[in-house]
Amino acid sequence: MPQMNCIVVGSGPSGAAASKALLDSGAKVTMLDVGHRLEPERQRVVDQLAAQEPALWDKSLVESLRGGMDVGVSGLPQKLVYGSEYAYADPFNAVRLVQHGTELFTSQALGGLSNVWGSNLLPFLGGDIGDWPLSSGELAPFYQRALELMPYAARRDGLSGIMPLHAEHYRPLEMSRQAAAIMADLEKHKARLARQGVAFGQSRLAIDARQCRYCGLCLYGCPYGLIYSSAQTLENLKAHPDFKYMDKASVESVEEREGIAEISVKSFPSGQKTTHRADRVFLAAGAVGSAKILLQSIGAYAREIEFKDSQYFLAPMLRFQGTEGVESEKLQTLSQIALVINDPQTSRKSVEMLIYTYNDMFDRALGKLLPWHFLKKPFLSRLFVVQGYLHSDDSTPIRMSLSQEGELNMAPGTNPRARTAMCKVKSKLREIQSSMGAFAIPGFTKLGAPGKSYHIGASFPMRGKPHGFESDTLGRPVGFGRVHLVDASCLPSIPSTNITLTVMANAMRIATLAARE
Ligand SMILES: Cc1cc2nc3c(=O)[nH]c(=O)nc-3n(C[C@H](O)[C@H](O)[C@H](O)COP(=O)(O)OP(=O)(O)OC[C@H]3O[C@@H](n4cnc5c(N)ncnc54)[C@H](O)[C@@H]3O)c2cc1C
Ligand code: SF4
Repeated sequence: MPQMNCIVVGSGPSGAAASKALLDSGAKVTMLDVGHRLEPERQRVVDQLAAQEPALWDKSLVESLRGGMDVGVSGLPQKLVYGSEYAYADPFNAVRLVQHGTELFTSQALGGLSNVWGSNLLPFLGGDIGDWPLSSGELAPFYQRALELMPYAARRDGLSGIMPLHAEHYRPLEMSRQAAAIMADLEKHKARLARQGVAFGQSRLAIDARQCRYCGLCLYGCPYGLIYSSAQTLENLKAHPDFKYMDKASVESVEEREGIAEISVKSFPSGQKTTHRADRVFLAAGAVGSAKILLQSIGAYAREIEFKDSQYFLAPMLRFQGTEGVESEKLQTLSQIALVINDPQTSRKSVEMLIYTYNDMFDRALGKLLPWHFLKKPFLSRLFVVQGYLHSDDSTPIRMSLSQEGELNMAPGTNPRARTAMCKVKSKLREIQSSMGAFAIPGFTKLGAPGKSYHIGASFPMRGKPHGFESDTLGRPVGFGRVHLVDASCLPSIPSTNITLTVMANAMRIATLAARE
């Protein structure tokens, strides 16, 4: 059998995962990517920091990484990496988002949004994907293969009962002292929480726990590169003789003719247009990027499509008892504890809550309200934040249409359930907060704007019998036989429990099965 020739579009987690599975299946892969990179002057700062242990760091270099994230009391600032916005930049004006009431970000970077992600890894629950045309059992082997691509900080605990770990190479991170105190309270009330439909455990993160220095910079980007980005997988793939990477290449459209897929690409900065041919094309440009390519390919201008969103909320909480010395503690600052709520009174689908304990942004945000340290200190010792996610059934969707001029117009859609969902979640939080030894600060629990969770997709959902803007179970949109969507575009819904691990597993599933066809 001749070797299958494949093009993968995008180097984010879905593109990296699909490419790995295709190479493992014996195919030849060319990855086309915009591939924007960190500014060289910032890379030099990161390299300088990475060459030393935290105790020897020059404080001005650390401050330059922290700069740019303007922390306020009203919510989270846009998360940057190494002080740079490059992961969200549209350097060649190829995406052209026009937003009315949504807060979406797309990526044209090498490694996509995984350069800035929080690295939370939980699979989807069977109950949350019961209406999908594939089961969690079919995804299970691919969860394992996706996890093999990254470091895995996790432990066997209360969450493993409902969510298998799916891999053996896990190693836990140390919890912050505040998180350990919250965990002790949760353990004390484990039986009551189980009756309330709450499972909990340590957050599972794509961090190399063996090498972590607990320097507290995770939210600004790890100087040692210990937080997984798919750019790391790409580096490994480049060593494969059947893999080729081309950057500064923006894919515009794809069509099928005479048993082959043909893809139109614009190269930057020259603006030169070329065509590439392949047996199969795998679109992994992120949900918005892939939708734009598809709509351009079929000439669907001014036709509206809908993205499903897993909306997020933030709830600042105060512990009844403080933990002294949090400001000087050596700790990691991504999420510490994950709670998964399965309570039909709250929602028919699960709700995820991630607990973030002290980080210096709390200090800076509180400093704006309470400029004197003696006033701030008792709050800092008690403050933590719950960042929660709703299932897309409980969230506001996002409408998008492509104009003839190439602009993507985005606006919130409607979902009557979204109006009541957040009230129910707030009431659930009140019900369980004493088991965390804490209370939610009244008036501060806020729902994020549609798109702000970065967990969106389902624009061309997989169906057993697809119609219109839907795809088959190998992510092929109606009308295509050789073009596969492998990012979140083809997921039928967006459950609450962090999207990327499932996106990667599904990309590997589609790539593996497509290579066998
Ligand atoms: C601040 C933040 C925190 C997050 N935290 C988490 C978390 O804790 N857990 C979790 O599961 N998820 C998290 N996410 C979401 C996660 O980052 C995304 O789900 C994931 O990156 C999506 O991967 P992707 O490969 O589908 O797309 P992307 O990461 O968006 O990558 C898209 C790729 O396609 C390329 N591209 C785009 N358009 C074109 C084109 N026309 N031609 C060629 N190439 C193109 C880009 O260069 C890029 O390489 C977070 C996201 C953000 C921003
Ligand atoms: S604490 Fe975060 S930033 Fe520091 S070494 Fe560990 S993962 Fe990297």
